[in-house]
Amino acid sequence: MELSSKTRLCGLIGDPVEHSISPKMLNAAFKAADLNFVYVAMNVKKRELASAIKGMRALNIHGLNVTIPHKVNVVKYLNHIDVDARAIGAVNTILNVNGELRGFNTDGIGAARAIEESGTSLEGKSAVLIGSGGAARAIAFTFSNKVDKLTILNRHTDKAGKLAAELTRKKMKRVYSGGLQRERLRQALSDAQIMVNATSVGMFPNKDTSILEGVLLRPDLVVFDIVYNPLETRLLREAAKVGAKTVNGVGMLVHQGAEAFKIWTGKEAPVEIMHKVAMEELSRLNGRA
Ligand code: NAP
Repeated sequence: MELSSKTRLCGLIGDPVEHSISPKMLNAAFKAADLNFVYVAMNVKKRELASAIKGMRALNIHGLNVTIPHKVNVVKYLNHIDVDARAIGAVNTILNVNGELRGFNTDGIGAARAIEESGTSLEGKSAVLIGSGGAARAIAFTFSNKVDKLTILNRHTDKAGKLAAELTRKKMKRVYSGGLQRERLRQALSDAQIMVNATSVGMFPNKDTSILEGVLLRPDLVVFDIVYNPLETRLLREAAKVGAKTVNGVGMLVHQGAEAFKIWTGKEAPVEIMHKVAMEELSRLNGRA
């Protein structure tokens, strides 16, 4: 599709954004769907966020993805926040409807689809979620509508406790929280079928670290690591070694982008193409910043 006066502009704002694979992934998707859309990465400093959002309205930018460090702060500049994004407290996708900016969060849906796509249903399962940052919060709210039991463990236990309390207020019955002590991890994993690492532990350049010891893993667990650089984290390597089923972070990255594509275009995203491009880009990047 050639750029023209009718081209709709979408993009990513964050700092840094230089290594993001989203431009390649979304532009390939727009091309495959024959849509006159283009996607660019824009580095926006913290102090410029308000101006950038004002600029989105002024320039009639159709859609934005939002990444670190703006996901929480951007909420106050938008006109309407989707109910899930409001509960999560963070927005990663904005749609501009005639100057009215609507905020969404597609991270939780992306994570759920990544697991389901690997052949594991979340319905009625017992899951352990490690982390309580932005991504973990999105995953926790999506999982709370699907799993039967959720245990949230985090280095700073107060954050895990706060998140669990929010889910309890949302009427989730079996939600628990705690820290990362070995015994607590062992106990939480003992009746779990799914374990998710939603921390940055294991991410480049700290590739040799893992959020838990491999001996705590079992062959009947599904181990999902949302970190995607490297593609195979130490956690996933050790999980595979004990015979557990592993899911890497690429599926979540693709599906959160696919959901943003749908919000902006009203059409289903060409997920297979997005996955292929993401794998090519991440393999090129693998183990590098
Ligand atoms: P965040 O809001 O900064 O949260 C970071 C989380 O990691 C917190 O729970 C933090 O614990 C924990 N953590 C950091 N260092 C730790 C350590 N040394 N030991 C134990 N816990 C540690 O970040 P985020 O946005 O949630 O992102 C987390 C990771 O997910 C990043 O690697 C990011 O690239 C990845 N991610 C992937 C996707 C995808 O599509 N696959 C999407 C979003 C994010 P405390 O609360 O105790 O500090």
